[in-house]
Amino acid sequence: MAGYIDRNFIEELITRVNIVELIDHYLNLRKTGQNYKACCPFHQEKTPSFIVNPDKQFYHCFGCGAGGNAIRFIMEYAQLDFVEAVHEIANKIGIEVIYEPNESGAVQHNQENANQYQQLYTINAQAAYYYRQQLRQSKLAQDYLKQRGLTGEVAREFGIGYAPANWQNLINLFPSANHEQLFQLGLIKKSNGSNYDVFRDRIIYPILDRRKRIIAFGGRLIAPNDKAPKYLNSPATILFQKSQEVYGWHLATQNRQQVIVVEGYMDVIALAQYGITNSVATLGTACTTQQLELLFRRVTDIVFCFDGDVAGQQAAWRALKSALPLLKDKRQVSFVFLATGFDPDSLVRSQGEAGFNNCIKQALPLSKFLFQQFKTLDLTTVEGKTKLIEEVKPLLQLLPLGTYRDLVLQELEQLTKIEQTFLAANYNQPPPSNNIKPVSSMRQLSLAQQGMVYLLYKSELHLELDANSYNKLVQLEQKEVALLLDIVILCRKAKSLGVILEHFRATEYEPLISQLLPHQVGLAIMGLELKQEFAGVIRGLCKEFFKQRFLVLNQSLPNLSADEKLEYLAILKAG
Ligand SMILES: [Zn+2]
Repeated sequence: MAGYIDRNFIEELITRVNIVELIDHYLNLRKTGQNYKACCPFHQEKTPSFIVNPDKQFYHCFGCGAGGNAIRFIMEYAQLDFVEAVHEIANKIGIEVIYEPNESGAVQHNQENANQYQQLYTINAQAAYYYRQQLRQSKLAQDYLKQRGLTGEVAREFGIGYAPANWQNLINLFPSANHEQLFQLGLIKKSNGSNYDVFRDRIIYPILDRRKRIIAFGGRLIAPNDKAPKYLNSPATILFQKSQEVYGWHLATQNRQQVIVVEGYMDVIALAQYGITNSVATLGTACTTQQLELLFRRVTDIVFCFDGDVAGQQAAWRALKSALPLLKDKRQVSFVFLATGFDPDSLVRSQGEAGFNNCIKQALPLSKFLFQQFKTLDLTTVEGKTKLIEEVKPLLQLLPLGTYRDLVLQELEQLTKIEQTFLAANYNQPPPSNNIKPVSSMRQLSLAQQGMVYLLYKSELHLELDANSYNKLVQLEQKEVALLLDIVILCRKAKSLGVILEHFRATEYEPLISQLLPHQVGLAIMGLELKQEFAGVIRGLCKEFFKQRFLVLNQSLPNLSADEKLEYLAILKAG
């Protein structure tokens, strides 16, 4: 979906929706004290530990740690993406979604924007129709598809077409009023003042989004030559961001359990022809975390299918790294490596549905594949064990805390015969190069992180930070402190926790903030004197500021101005 939803609108939406009413629509909420309770929809339980807080416009599960604002709930519960969730909520409360002004900066009416997109989708659909017609008329293209083993039925199902070898197919087809749009869609290019078609003498594979709209095209040369790439995809356009889309997703969503990730369009199509309709292809790139996130929204089990050669192994390793940060809850990732000379297309054609499914059944779980990479290490020696632990460390740090991570640690324990508790302690050390430290227990929180936990729990605490301290903290120039100050400002504007979470959604701070949220539970239990605790954090940070300032002044001691000398002495005196 193109175009960005206006940020102010999102804030407005979260302010206007009542999270209790919204969630009550899906779960049976019961009032207990200030909160509402239900059995958690995100994990199996018999006694309710899922609470909804009307003041903070926030939900949290004490059992599995799920939590967030209204939008997050709809995304997780209804398995929608962000834009879909916003639309869902806007519909429920009867307001119209507002998009950001377009690039030229002019604010356009919403409807006009929507029409603009609609026109682009329509042009893509018309182009696809034209290509399909051309396929019907081209014996050459039909022969090629037959020779690849495609039936007419599956070709129709995937909307396969043919772009004839001319330079002006679409240009002649569409009135010149539409040429600018063809250009925006990457279907034509401009050169020396004249336009020409991008797809020529190619089999055309339309690329659909999940709502079955054509967002782009892939094209394969019928007769590959040295002058042009064999495969060509539409460039990035306002309808198409390659790293966020997969080919075949509109069919694959019919299976809610498992999806098989393959490399090419032809793999997806051949598998579908043999009744395997849960595969998708990445679009000529390594599988990105964004693509995997998209897939995990609908299924719990992703199987990567790669060639058995070196390139396939390397691609699998990259896929593993993209997948690690997403491995939580019941999610699973596994790998299949096909015998040399086979791809899914040729395999399913030679061995049928059963043969291919057998291969999938033997997929290597991610943890096994991970440790397989280190099988040359001699684990009977201390050196070998140390090396293994060091190599696995950066990978483990990508994994969210949870069952999957525990599983990998278990495996590591078995391999090295070193106790898990020791390994876990070793791995919980934050990586040194990272600005934003991962959080695993309250004890390990930095001062700024502690401050954030307090503030997110009780926004009135912002009153404890006076202008004087604020100015000092700003000068610390630490990323986490800056984040803390951002949150202070948001609290001053009386934003609810729901709005604050939204403010940081999809920013580099989102992971840290979501790691900090569960610590609120600890606060509720410990019953700390929060004002004092928060003031202590501020004092600590001011102290850091003085320390830093002292070092700076100390360095240029002989050249200090009169004011600076006084400041230096004051810091010295205060110790
Ligand atoms: Zn839960």
